[in-house]
Amino acid sequence: MSSDACILETCRGVKPGGCRFGLPLPGGFAGELEALAGTALPVALAELGRPLRHHERLRLSLCACPNGCVRPHVADVGLLAARDVAIDAAACAGCGACRDVCPDGAIALDDGVAALDDSRCLGCGQCLAVCPAGAIAAGPTRFRALIGGRLGRRPRLGQELGRRLDGQAALGLVARCLAAHGAQARPSRRFGDIIFPAGQPGLPAWIWP
Ligand code: SF4
Ligand code: SF4
Ligand code: SF4
Repeated sequence: MSSDACILETCRGVKPGGCRFGLPLPGGFAGELEALAGTALPVALAELGRPLRHHERLRLSLCACPNGCVRPHVADVGLLAARDVAIDAAACAGCGACRDVCPDGAIALDDGVAALDDSRCLGCGQCLAVCPAGAIAAGPTRFRALIGGRLGRRPRLGQELGRRLDGQAALGLVARCLAAHGAQARPSRRFGDIIFPAGQPGLPAWIWP
């Protein structure tokens, strides 16, 4: 999905059944994101009087799990679906299946009981599916957001917001980024230049809800 001002890339897991790793997205989320991405070329960009170059368009990337198949880390705005998980120690049978399946080494067995290291967990949800005791609970799918990533001559990874956003908050973030892009885009200026002027670190205050 693309418009004059925006390119939206979604991984195949966004469609139900499209990928075995895909997390269930909030109802209507993908459609609302697509509608946002299809909004008209903002005045500030239309005044350029020519089609935008590829790197002048805002690139959005949506992944239905932390695997990041459509490169959200180098998108102007990258969203990765994630679920918070919690282990009920009292219900754990100590089989170790969750530890073995976790790609991030976020679960250890402590005295025969599974223990989660939140700092390592990326919220992929793979442990949920293998627990025979139903001892792992998960919250709703939310989104990690990465802002200002880019490839090209001066590549950089997007800066992570540091907290997970629900669907409405993620859509609001995208809308604010589109508005900033429309207001501040200039010839050859990339979105990362708007977010990090003169390369300075730290996200601008308007990023936050
Ligand atoms: S990002 Fe995850 S859900 Fe999407 S295609 Fe890749 S592995 Fe599948
Ligand atoms: S949600 Fe994924 S990363 Fe987190 S503990 Fe489970 S398998 Fe590991
Ligand atoms: S898969 Fe379930 S029962 Fe087995 S160790 Fe993990 S939490 Fe415990």
